[in-house]
Amino acid sequence: MDFEELYREVILDHARRPRNCGELPDADRHVHGDNPLCGDEVTVHVKFGQRDDIENITFTGNACSICMASASLMTQKVKRHTRAEADALWQGFHDMLTAQPEPPVNESLGDLLALQGVRKFPMRVKCATLPWQALKEALEPVTKPA
Ligand code: ZN
Repeated sequence: MDFEELYREVILDHARRPRNCGELPDADRHVHGDNPLCGDEVTVHVKFGQRDDIENITFTGNACSICMASASLMTQKVKRHTRAEADALWQGFHDMLTAQPEPPVNESLGDLLALQGVRKFPMRVKCATLPWQALKEALEPVTKPA
């Protein structure tokens, strides 16, 4: 099995059986994102822990396979990481799909590398980055009313 085939299997598996898919009633943040070009809609639910980490993260939505797989892989990857680590993963994922010229393989992305091939399809890049945009917004500090 070559890498491309293996990656396709990972994407299909996550699209068919998305991980961390469902409501998170005690979440601190709910951020909705949509991609009208494809019809993807995703809401990311984040609960923060004591040490400014992502204690739990889930997503809900209605989206294409690439978007569902990306959301599933993302939630699996960033769970129990600090905000700073999640930011770094966001940057790495973003660079993998959009940086020019193509950056060297970033091993720290792990299973997220399965989505690397998406960069060849600019229309689908938005599908893959949608859940990440919502995550980024969720990670921004909220100014609490005095
Ligand atoms: Zn899509």
